[in-house]
Amino acid sequence: MNLRELNHVIPSMPASDGAGVKLRRSLGASQGLRHDPFLMLDEFFSDDPNDYIAGFPSHPHRGFETVTYMVDGRMQHKDHLGNTGDLGPGDVQWMTAARGIIHSEMPQQTEGRMRGFQLWLNLPAKLKMQPAGYRDIPSTAIPEASFDGGRVRVIAGEWQLNGSRVEGAIQRPITEPTLLDIHLQPGARFAADLPAHHHAFAYVYEGSASIAGKTLPHRAAGLLGQGDRIEILSESVGARLLLLAAAPLGEPVVQYGPFVMNTREEIEQALADYRDGTLAA
Ligand code: FE
Repeated sequence: MNLRELNHVIPSMPASDGAGVKLRRSLGASQGLRHDPFLMLDEFFSDDPNDYIAGFPSHPHRGFETVTYMVDGRMQHKDHLGNTGDLGPGDVQWMTAARGIIHSEMPQQTEGRMRGFQLWLNLPAKLKMQPAGYRDIPSTAIPEASFDGGRVRVIAGEWQLNGSRVEGAIQRPITEPTLLDIHLQPGARFAADLPAHHHAFAYVYEGSASIAGKTLPHRAAGLLGQGDRIEILSESVGARLLLLAAAPLGEPVVQYGPFVMNTREEIEQALADYRDGTLAA
């Protein structure tokens, strides 16, 4: 057994996206700050409607998957395929933009707390031009498991430890992503066995935690080293955190805003297709 260490910390930076939603971006805050196949992680968290009310009006994506995880508040998704989804606390939306999707994501509240995450997960070259897909996963359909001092919501992939496993709500090919939401009481310990070749990182969104003896600061992405097991300890106030892992693609990444392809020519094609109205046809 080889424990993963905390290798590198990417602090989240204040950012604004959509029509002016205030958020914090860690992965993806600049082009070099990716962790293949993870492209971006945004956390939005505010009690002030001015920070979120403008939402994300109609916009395109091509070449990757977007995962939205709501913790507090409500958001409505609409897309050109005719899908409408209402996301509430604990719900997940898994959207495979692939060759193209045009959608909006708008808050369904005018006051109160809005909190959640958006993750961008790359697709391999051979899946980038496949038809778009979309799934809503209600909170009640997300498997949960308890352990001494905490519980884990298994959103994607699986939680595996010492040969026992809990399968998550979503399974994806090739990148085989794991997405866990872990809640720890003060001084509790979480452990998971992960495939040794997967790239992994953690993001503490409440409290504080440490990995292999190093503190992972609140609201920062902690990139983990190699190994087949991860152990996370909460500190005196407990912790809530996301743990993510996936198989790296090792392919070139060329990004222009909401388009993530392998070459510049493919980006130019995406822009031309969007202009012509064929991006999501
Ligand atoms: Fe979007």
